[in-house]
Amino acid sequence: MKIALIAHDRMKEQIEQLAMAYESILAKHDLYATGTTGSRIMEATSLSLTRFLSGPLGGDQQIGAMVARNEMDLIIFLRDPLTSQPHEPDIIALLRLCDVHKIPFATNLGSAEIMLKALELGQLDWREVVHEENEA
Ligand code: PGA
Repeated sequence: MKIALIAHDRMKEQIEQLAMAYESILAKHDLYATGTTGSRIMEATSLSLTRFLSGPLGGDQQIGAMVARNEMDLIIFLRDPLTSQPHEPDIIALLRLCDVHKIPFATNLGSAEIMLKALELGQLDWREVVHEENEA
């Protein structure tokens, strides 16, 4: 599965902790991240990720391009609920595309943990069907 990890600045510690706690599960998948989030996760764990640009420079949109092609299987985006972000339109666009393609999207630690546990149990395997259809 292809999983994207994104965290706003005030949520970066939380995403590091999440990645450490679920490292063995995440290690089995293809991981993508926005620039700074990706660096922080790689420093905190031994996971390797494909890093896109930093969010404010377009990283959210690069992940969005994969979502638009229905390639991404799960997005964990720990959003800061208290600080407005200059690239808010990109974030909303990403959310919208995930809704278009019914791609699971976790915006906080509570939902992220449930989705990672579901992933481990194979409950996202229906996405394989989507990939097969995409290739056909
Ligand atoms: P960053 O981007 O990981 O490069 O900080 C995240 C974001 O703000 O969308």
